[in-house]
Parts: sequence; structure tokens; C-alpha cells
Amino acid sequence: MKYKSTRGRSAEVNAAEAIIKGIAPDGGLFVPCEMPHVTAEFVEGLVPLTYRERAARVLSLFLADYTTDEISGCIERAYGGGKFDTDKVAPIRDVGDTTVLELWHGPTSAFKDMALQLLPQLMSVALKKTGEKREILILVATSGDTGKAALAGFADAEQIKIMVFYPDGGVSPIQRLQMVTQAGGNVSVVAVRGNFDDAQSGVKKIFGDKPFNDKLDAANVKLSSANSINWGRLVPQIVYYFSAYADMIGAGKIKNGDEVNYTVPTGNFGNILAGYYAKRMGLPVGRLICASNKNNVLTDFIRTGKYDKNREFYKTISPSMDILISSNLERLLYHVTDADTVRGYMDALAAGGSYTVSSDVLAKIDETFWAGCDDDDATKAIIKSVYDENGYVLDTHTAVAWGVAHEYMNETHDARPMVVVSTASPYKFSASVLDALGVDVEGDDPFVALDALEKKNSVKAPKGLSSLRGAKVLHDKTCDKDAMENTVFDFVK
Ligand SMILES: *Cc1c(COP(=O)(O)O)cnc(C)c1O
Repeated sequence: MKYKSTRGRSAEVNAAEAIIKGIAPDGGLFVPCEMPHVTAEFVEGLVPLTYRERAARVLSLFLADYTTDEISGCIERAYGGGKFDTDKVAPIRDVGDTTVLELWHGPTSAFKDMALQLLPQLMSVALKKTGEKREILILVATSGDTGKAALAGFADAEQIKIMVFYPDGGVSPIQRLQMVTQAGGNVSVVAVRGNFDDAQSGVKKIFGDKPFNDKLDAANVKLSSANSINWGRLVPQIVYYFSAYADMIGAGKIKNGDEVNYTVPTGNFGNILAGYYAKRMGLPVGRLICASNKNNVLTDFIRTGKYDKNREFYKTISPSMDILISSNLERLLYHVTDADTVRGYMDALAAGGSYTVSSDVLAKIDETFWAGCDDDDATKAIIKSVYDENGYVLDTHTAVAWGVAHEYMNETHDARPMVVVSTASPYKFSASVLDALGVDVEGDDPFVALDALEKKNSVKAPKGLSSLRGAKVLHDKTCDKDAMENTVFDFVK
């Protein structure tokens, strides 16, 4: 299967090349040229399988240029070897009237691991397959979770270096510690003075700067991306929509063919877009509900057809969703329009910070998507009530989705089963979660909060977080957003 750019001005490539490049040369994102289709038998066949076996079946539909052995080797190294704290990798769980899909059992306790444990494996196989001899530099802009997950996935990877930029003061203390204590001879972590969009725009600018890329080329270095615009990030995420559905059949909650709705806490639109691919492939997905925090640019877009990033940026208690430019939306726009139209939208976004889709296009989006948002106060109230009623502790991101899922069910009376996609362990955001539960902790030591939360929660704190206590800080660099290129060059030269 070949991949093409959403902006229509780059040559078609196979999966290995798309994964190495990260972004298409014309600035667009790679999308599959045709959508693989699955049958009801395919879905039924997943029910008795392990997560890794399910992943092999789904991935092989998209990674046509990888051999079966290559794919299962990558999956084994990503999800095997005790890296996840459960063999199920992405278990479902009954909480009240919904099913929660827990995507945070990986090494960094957030859903990014689902993709970022696999991407480095797919990439190193891709380097061999394409005969690439240069060193790859992975540049990441992170709002918190991507950074550590990418560092954990790429640390000590052969022929690859990784540099992570995070917004100074824009990530939780635990998220910061996870990143700045990362070991590995090939890693660098830098705080940028600005917010996430500044960091992300800076990285995008570096990718688009031809003279700078020539300079890197002369130093035998080639840039690539581990952000969710990379196809290798997106494709692993399609698997868990299938896996959750198969588990629901297995648990007798649904019959094969019944439609299921998924509510997804959304930032860059990567997670929910994987659900859209699953639906387009034929998985019986009903509605995909896009949940945002107070940075509700996507809620407004899905409700009105106008995408407008010209608005105040809020720092919330769900920082991984504090995003005003949702890069992966470009892929959805492509699938409901065409490359010329997408180029028009993206030019308008770059020039004036907004674009409006036609009512026909909006109608197509509305067939599948619904959107809502919750501010911090609502999010905290949800954490408290779900805990009081079910004894289950939601993290701040998942709580947003929980709230929007219930708003959707109340408003539409849609009775199809609801899966709330859970994207982080509550321990990653202990202080906010405790605040929501009405527990006072003194000072701002994240480990005091971790211990206090453990007293309330029947689930123990993940090892990857408790072991950060006293870990040595290895990265303390800070830079201005205009100095990112120099920082990159200093690292690789
Ligand atoms: C990244 C992240 C999200 C947002 O996912 P997108 O794919 O960017 O929409 C939500 N919750 C958590 C905890 C995350 O780390």
C-alpha cells in the first residue's frame, strides 16, 4: 500500500518511507492511498487473540512493505518483555454505565506509549529496508506526555538521536521529571520559553527550513518526527479500537456487528483519528465524540464548521489537551474533501489563523463526530463523583471525556454502548486529582501527592513514576523559541 500527501504535491511513498519522513515534502501529512476493508469474520477472528496478535493482523493491512516477521518482531519488542504492566496491554474495564479503555499501562503511564513504543521499532526496520545511511534526528514538541514516551521509545536506538522541546512551566512536575531524568547517549531535552504551540510551531519551522536542512544534510543528519503527524504514530493506535471492540464481544457486552461509540480526550486529534480509520475500515463504530477542555477550538469547529485558533490559550489541569492547532485534523479534512481544498484551509490557517468548511463538508464530519468540552471545575467535579460512585480514580484528561460522553448521551439519547478512552494514569496528575477529591496536601512535592493518592486508590502507583523519587536530573537546558535551530545544531554537529 502506498501513502500520499494531504496536500497533493508530493510523490507517493510506501509505509517505510512515510515513517522515516514523518511529514510529506509539501508540508502535508501522509495518508493511505486506499482504505483497507475488514469483514465481520476478521473482527470475530480477533476475539480469542492476544493484543499482540491483534496488532499483527491490523498493522499488516497498512504496512504492506513490511514482512510478517518484521511486523511481529516490532510488536514483540514494543509490547512484550514486561514493558506494559498487564499482558492485555490495553484492557477494558466497567465503570458505572460505561466501558473504560485503559491506554496507560505502558512504561510512561500515558496513552502515548501505545504508539511510541512501536514507532522506533517500525523506524529502525524502515532504515534498514530503505538503505538510509544518515543519522536520523527525531525532533519532538511536547505538551507533556509525548516527550517522555518518545524518549523512552527511542533511547539508545541505533542510528537515531532524539531531541525533545517542552513548554517551560507548561507541563506537570512529574511530566517534567520524567523527561529531564531520561538516560541515554542519544537524547536531549530542552525547555522552550513559550507555550506548546510555540514549541510545536518552532519544530514545524525547522522541518520546513530548507537551508537549515541542507546544513544538517552536510553534517550527515536527516530530520524526522515522532509527533502524532507521523503515520507510524497513528497506525498503532488503530489497533486498540479493534481490540476494545473484540474484548467487548468476548465479555458478552455486545454482539459482533453492534455499533459502539467512543469518547476520546482530544488534543492533536491523533487518537480520535485512529478511531475514524477503524470505522472507515469497517469496524462497527457509531459516533466518535471529541472531548476538549477549555481550549475548545475543536468543539467549536465540529459544531459550526469554523476552525479559529485566534482565541485565548488556557493552561488547564489537562495539559496534554492544551492545544490550539490540532495537526491531525488535516487528515480528516483530506478524507472528507480533497488535496486542493485542504491546501486552501491550511493556507488560510497559516495566514489568518482560521478557515471555514462548507456545510456539505460539515455534514460529512457530523455523520461521525460529535463534540463537547468541560472546564477545570467541571472536570474536578467529575473526578469526585466518579470516585464517590464507583471507587474508580479518573485522571484529569479522561475525566473531560467522561463528562462529554455523558453530556452526549443525555442530549442525544443515543443508547449504543459507550467506551470512554482513558489516556493517562491518575498518578501522573496526582495533585490535580487530589484537589478534585478534596484532599489537601502540603507543599508542591509531587511525591507527597503520589503517596496521598495511593491511600485513596485501590490501584498502586506505577513503578515508572514512583521510581522518579530522587532520580538525577540530566537535562537542564532552556532556550528562547527563536533559538531552537541553534540548539538543534549544537546537539548534532
Ligand atoms: C496526548 C494526550 C491526549 C491527546 O491526544 P491527541 O492524540 O493529541 O488528541 C489526551 N490525553 C493525554 C493524557 C495525552 O497524553
